[in-house]
Amino acid sequence: MNQRTGGPAGAPTIEQIMSPGPGRRPPRHWMDLAPAERVDAVRAMGLPAFRARQISTHWFTRLEDDPAGWTDLPADARERIAGILLPPLLEPVQELAADHGTTVKTAWRLYDGCLVESVLMRYLHRTTVCISSEAGCGIGCPFCATGQGGLQRNLSTAEIVGQVVHGARLLARGSAPGGPGRVTNVVFMGMGEPLANFSAVLAAVRELTRPEPDGLGISARGLTVSTVGMVPRMRQLTGAGVPVTLAVSLHAPDDELRDELVPLNRHFDIDAVLDAAWDHARTSGRRVSIEYVLIKDVNDQAWRADLLARRLAERGDWNWAHVNLIPLNPTPGSRWTASRREDEEAFVRHLARHGIPVTVRDTRGREIDGACGQLAARVGADGGDLARRAVGGAPAGA
Ligand code: SAH
Ligand code: SF4
Repeated sequence: MNQRTGGPAGAPTIEQIMSPGPGRRPPRHWMDLAPAERVDAVRAMGLPAFRARQISTHWFTRLEDDPAGWTDLPADARERIAGILLPPLLEPVQELAADHGTTVKTAWRLYDGCLVESVLMRYLHRTTVCISSEAGCGIGCPFCATGQGGLQRNLSTAEIVGQVVHGARLLARGSAPGGPGRVTNVVFMGMGEPLANFSAVLAAVRELTRPEPDGLGISARGLTVSTVGMVPRMRQLTGAGVPVTLAVSLHAPDDELRDELVPLNRHFDIDAVLDAAWDHARTSGRRVSIEYVLIKDVNDQAWRADLLARRLAERGDWNWAHVNLIPLNPTPGSRWTASRREDEEAFVRHLARHGIPVTVRDTRGREIDGACGQLAARVGADGGDLARRAVGGAPAGA
């Protein structure tokens, strides 16, 4: 493995990048607990063990967050259970709709004032929730709004899963345009680097995929974890044996440019990242998605498409990787913009000529700054509650 020893002065050290961030912990929540721990928790409150299953059924299956509706639990215990075991963690401060209401983006305030976001996207045959794994991000990619503010802290498992539960609740109640539905896909592509918050993210993946009533029962095939290439953690994820899809944010096929666009590359270079990605594809049977933000005159030259194709093809021609090109959504004040249409088309053509499967990401939610931490950044800059635009009578958060 090509692990490099360090970067230029001023770049974060690998210890800083891999550390969990400042030690504030949100209140413990039902969604932080494994099923056996939930039984212990109800017993510790003096309740019989079977109450744990009832609580989980209300939370994960019925998606009922109002204790008044937990009618099979003793009336005098409901509020106490909610207060102790299911404290509110996510307060919605802004909800924006786009694409005729089929995209809904929510900015959340956490218990300590941190802001994160999640996005619900409805398509014809699937519904995807894009979630955050950290408040801020410590990697510092210069084109990314989240990266500009640095890392505030890792999210807890409950804060991560809660974003999906909220989306599931909107759908189950028919509050999202398109009528009642279910969450079929979850992508860790909101704020943060999921593999920098490895244990909480892995626990969240297990909870999202655990059958009801102990989890949300979403197929692991519907889950995508996006990483900039934390190679040891990619290998740990592969070793954990959960067949999630891995998305690798590559953005450049040469180390010289990638060192600039993705500062973590100074620690784990492209060969190391692609080798780990290839191993994940082989072990999980899931094709890896190579994410590539197209930035005008920075990384969009045809020769870079050829080099990218060669580096993927030299690792095997069994379609182990698919390239997803993302038009840059410029961050405020940035000198970078999205590629010209003709350069984007040439990039696609060059990859396709080498037999590499390639798509250009649809720009869902573009007018509400979808998919890259910009809404929360803006709410933070405004410093307070912005008017919440009602989205079909969307209920309060998880
Ligand atoms: N930290 C992880 C996951 C969150 S970012 C990662 O980087 O993979 C999710 C995706 O949004 C990444 O592919 C990232 O490169 C992309 N992204 C970030 N800023 C963007 C921007 N300004 N325009 C378009 N895509 C962006
Ligand atoms: Fe972090 Fe991903 Fe943004 Fe880079 S692109 S700063 S890794 S959230």
